[in-house]
Formats: sequence, structure tokens, C-alpha cells
Amino acid sequence: MRQIKTNSVNINQISINKINGTTNIVGLLGWPVKHTFSPLMHNAAFAALDLNWAYIPLPIVPEQIKKAVPSLQAFNFKGANVTIPHKQTIIPYLDKVDHLAKLIGAVNTIVIKKQVAYGYNTDSYGFLKSLTDANFDAKGSRCLILGAGGAARAIAFSLADARADTIAIYNRTKSRASLLVNELENIFSTIKFSSQFLSPQVLKLSQTQFDLVINTTSMGMFPDLEATPWPLDIALPQAVICDLVYNPIKTQFLKQAETVGLKTIDGLGMLIHQGAKAFEIWTDQTPPTDLMRQIILKEMERGT
Ligand code: NAP
Repeated sequence: MRQIKTNSVNINQISINKINGTTNIVGLLGWPVKHTFSPLMHNAAFAALDLNWAYIPLPIVPEQIKKAVPSLQAFNFKGANVTIPHKQTIIPYLDKVDHLAKLIGAVNTIVIKKQVAYGYNTDSYGFLKSLTDANFDAKGSRCLILGAGGAARAIAFSLADARADTIAIYNRTKSRASLLVNELENIFSTIKFSSQFLSPQVLKLSQTQFDLVINTTSMGMFPDLEATPWPLDIALPQAVICDLVYNPIKTQFLKQAETVGLKTIDGLGMLIHQGAKAFEIWTDQTPPTDLMRQIILKEMERGT
């Protein structure tokens, strides 16, 4: 154990956390929350803007989720982020839910104002902002989504809301893709939707018909660095290739795309922008997105 010699500490050299009796508190509801970058990103942003706010992890098991919102209200929290596995199950406990979050069926940001708990989905904003940062216009585009889990829902509804022309969803479990397509068809009647089993045979037939291909599966995520949703021996379509996986930032799927000269969009942009939007919702301040990006990149370099 490291020995601390209290009588030799120089008070000017230690960084003292400025939390005090008037600090505004937000946090992250999830299970587990051990590997999150959010406290680091938000606390750095609060410090950069000299805001008396703090962001803390709030690990909560699924069986306790009904107590989450009343507890935030009781302790006068200003809000929270919500992550796996609570993004859907938190909804019945909120007082008001934003229209798009309701459509997606998932909330990742809560703000509490005068004891009223409002729910938003900033993943959607984060994803669309990462597209505009890359000069990709979703309106009128032909999109292929690989995967049909929670992230795919947010992406599919966002692209539909942004008036994409075509949205195809391929998933390992075909029924999950079909259910999502049925839901989308009931709401967005002018967009062409389709679903398929995610298989090499189907991918071989998808050579030229897409402008954007998005990996929303967890394939390629640390530690499975060699995994890819698109087999190496099947040519990619002439499309912009996007991967939601952000650890690593350059996934095998993005490397494949770069090798054949395709434009790529990594998952870090969405991660930063969803956090930045939450920051803005809570504080009404413009988030320091460059700093938020730098701090996450630095942490990733440290290999944590
Ligand atoms: P999820 O709800 O568990 O969905 C996982 C998806 O991946 C499902 O479609 C699943 O197919 C598919 N999948 C998993 N393993 C597979 C395999 N070996 N072969 C084929 N398909 C496979 O997870 P999620 O919340 O959607 O997250 C998915 C990924 O997106 C994660 O890597 C997450 O980190 C990333 N993400 C990034 C951001 C960001 O800000 N950049 C935000 C959200 C999520 P089945 O339906 O067949 O199981």
C-alpha cells in the first residue's frame, strides 16, 4: 500500500476538487458503468467553463430502476445520462418524454427542472451531427444499417426523421430487423424500408445500391479487434462507411473501407456529440466539444 506522508504535502501542488454545498450534480445511470468515459468528458467540460457542476457514476441494477428517477428528484439532481440496460425501462418513470425519444423508444438523457423529469434521446442528435461533420447529407440518401439492437433503433429513426430515401436493415436475428422495419413503416410512409438476414450471400448482392453503410453491431469492439460485420472477401459498395464502435476508433470495418479508398466516419463523433447535447440541455451553455474529444482521445491512448 502507498504511504501518504500528510505532513509533507504541499497544498499548492495538489488539485483540490471544487465540489461544495452548491454544486449541481448530474450522473450516469447504468449497469455496469465501470468503463464509461462520460464522467471524464463532462467533468472536464464543466471545469473548462468554470461551472460548479459535477458528474458522477450512478450504478443501478435493473431490479432497482423504478427508484432511479424519484431518487434523482429527492437528491435535487439536475439530470442524468442513461445507458445500457436502462434506456428503454426508464421511460415509464419520466414525467415527459421528447417526441423523437418516444419514437425511438429509448432515453439517454434526463433533465430535471422544478422536480419535473424530462427524457431525451441525444444519441440521435449525436449520430446526425457526426454525419454533417463529415459533410454527409442524410436527406434523400440510401442507407444500409447492419444490426438491429438499441443503437440501430436510434440510427434508423434518426435517418427516417432526416428523410432518407431508403433504409435497409440487416441483422443476424432477422426477426428483430423485421420488427423494427414494421414499426418504421407505420410511421414513415414515404420511405422505402427492407430487412434481411445479415449473411455473406446477402452482402454480396449489395454492391452498388447504398450511399451510407453503418455498422451498429458490436462486431469489432475491443477486445475482438479482428471482427467485422463485412467479410474481407466481399467487396464493399461505393458508399460512405460508418462504424458506431468507438473502441477502437479505427475498427477493422473502417480499415477495410480505407483500403479501397472509401470515405469513413468513426463512432467517436457520435459519442462526443451525444454527450455535448446532454451538456447543453443541462447547463444551457455551449459545450466545449473539442476539449471533450481531446480528453477522450487521451484516455484511450492511455489504454483504459
Ligand atoms: P445491442 O442492443 O446489444 O445490439 C447489438 C447488435 O449487434 C444486435 O443487432 C446483434 O444482433 C448484433 N451482433 C452482436 N454480435 C454479433 C455477431 N457476432 N454477429 C452479428 N451480429 C452481432 O447493442 P447496442 O446498444 O445497439 O450497441 C451496439 C454497438 O454500438 C456497440 O458496440 C456500442 O458500443 C456502439 N454504440 C456506439 C455509440 C456511439 O456513441 N458511438 C452509441 C451507442 C452504441 P442480434 O440481434 O442477432 O443479437
